Amino acid sequence: SSTPEKHKDNIFRSKLPDIHIPNHLPLHTYCFQNLSDFPTNPCLISASTGDVLTYTDVHLASQNLAASLHHLGISHGDTIMLLLPNSTEFAISFLAASLLGAITTTANPFYTPAEIHNQAVSSSAKLIITESCNSGKVQPLVDNHRHHNIKLITIDDIHHDLSFSQLLSSNHTDHDQLVDSLNINSDDVVALPYSSGTTGLPKGVMITHKGLVTSISQQVDGENPNIYFHKEDVILCLLPLFHIYSLNTVLLCGIRRGAAIVIMRRFDIEKMMEVVERFRVTVLPMVPPIVVEISKRPSAAAKRDLSSVRMVMSGAAPMGKELQDTLRSTFPNATFGQGYGMTEAAPLSMCLGFAKEPFEFKSGSCGTVIRNSEMKFADPETGLSLPRHHPGEICVRGDMIMKGYLNDPEATKNTIDNEGWLHTGDIGFIDDDDEVFIVDRLKELIKYKAFQVAPAELEAMLISHPNISDAAVVSMKDELAGEIPVAFVVRSDGSEITEDEIKQYISKQVIFYKRIHKVFFCNAIPKAPSGKILRKDLRAKLTIELSN
Ligand code: ATP
Ligand code: MG
Repeated sequence: SSTPEKHKDNIFRSKLPDIHIPNHLPLHTYCFQNLSDFPTNPCLISASTGDVLTYTDVHLASQNLAASLHHLGISHGDTIMLLLPNSTEFAISFLAASLLGAITTTANPFYTPAEIHNQAVSSSAKLIITESCNSGKVQPLVDNHRHHNIKLITIDDIHHDLSFSQLLSSNHTDHDQLVDSLNINSDDVVALPYSSGTTGLPKGVMITHKGLVTSISQQVDGENPNIYFHKEDVILCLLPLFHIYSLNTVLLCGIRRGAAIVIMRRFDIEKMMEVVERFRVTVLPMVPPIVVEISKRPSAAAKRDLSSVRMVMSGAAPMGKELQDTLRSTFPNATFGQGYGMTEAAPLSMCLGFAKEPFEFKSGSCGTVIRNSEMKFADPETGLSLPRHHPGEICVRGDMIMKGYLNDPEATKNTIDNEGWLHTGDIGFIDDDDEVFIVDRLKELIKYKAFQVAPAELEAMLISHPNISDAAVVSMKDELAGEIPVAFVVRSDGSEITEDEIKQYISKQVIFYKRIHKVFFCNAIPKAPSGKILRKDLRAKLTIELSN
């Protein structure tokens, strides 16, 4: 290619060799490719009831549901919306739709009717699958848009015309013929999740069969897979499946390798620890707020036998070294590492301590570049790719990245450049051992005069204080400095820590421009279900605080 030599030098890759990725296969075929190795192993386990579906059960249920959905008029290229909490029905519906070549858009069941309406209309959903407790929220949509013919299925309503259990049990025998007739292309969209909405409105992200197969394969395939999942594993599926982290790395990666997936409907720390003990969970995918809660409430873990856990992973939001280190004693037999990903690009980097033949890694790092992909760090001013240790905007290239944003070619063009690099909006760097560290989002960096302050760094310090249970840092306008860092702090139970004590605690550890100028105490830090601090909500709160 015509890339100048000096740029080539600054492109980074995995320490693992590239592998052959069968990304010509449709997602469903790829996920169940190894089915004959574990036909009677548990696939989906409901944590609340203990009900088990084997791999054969799930495979058959997805085929039956696909045929039933097809019968209802859902076909190749149509979109269905899942408005469900974590459940076996969620998993089976997604798999069934993918088998048909249909697109699944996933939404938070706690969304308001207006939010659901927007997503259903913008994604042109033809069918919504939800629970009866939410049917009131979607009924107006179904009624108002008769001409769009939006259908509704409630998974728990046995009296409804479209009963889920009936759709599952209908015995259609022409599965293969049906699928052959659909002719799925690897460039077809299979999933349409929405990004977390941390920086603005959530964006619809078009993920293809090829993209998801590539991503799963990058994570769990090969002689030395980056994440070693196997058929004896029991993976806890606690993070919401409507977010790509759980859908991809927990559910689909787990199925590819024949693991048992224990599905929990919602997070509760006591319950989670009980489930880990009861099902002898081996893999625990988490997000930083859960890690914070575990470290701040050691009593929940203390009374449980957590020795089965061999892998704890965190991702989706920044987590400092201090916090990562606090969990060592909680899970005595576990490797605790991080991955870094985004809805648009799947995991871009992953801890190599999770590999079958694990590598050494550093606490606080987000792992190394995922295999079969390239990463570079672009100078935000010049766009030039930077050498090791120089923080720049993380850019990634590979077959796992999205096809684009739904109905937004402009935004797509601004994110994926014409050389195929996806610009993440995150600032990070790579060290001499090929480990990637995230500094923060480009947009979140606080500009104190000419200096840059990363909220994530200050938050990590605040959270490691025993009298602080949670914290977030945002910028405040300042005449002299332009912007100054201020903190929102949640005190631990019984703590009376003061604003001055907090300011001093930080100023002892940082250079002058990173000092915290003001502290606002509050009861909770607003977060997205994927674990991210919603700083835009805090900035709005700040405006209110200041006008009081
Ligand atoms: P939106 O794009 O709608 O504003 P979002 O970017 O939060 O929301 P996601 O796709 O869920 O939506 O999140 C991707 C982002 O999460 C990344 O760009 C990065 O900022 C952050 N992230 C993910 N993993 C990590 C990690 N291990 N450490 C730090 N940040 C992370
Ligand atoms: Mg984003």
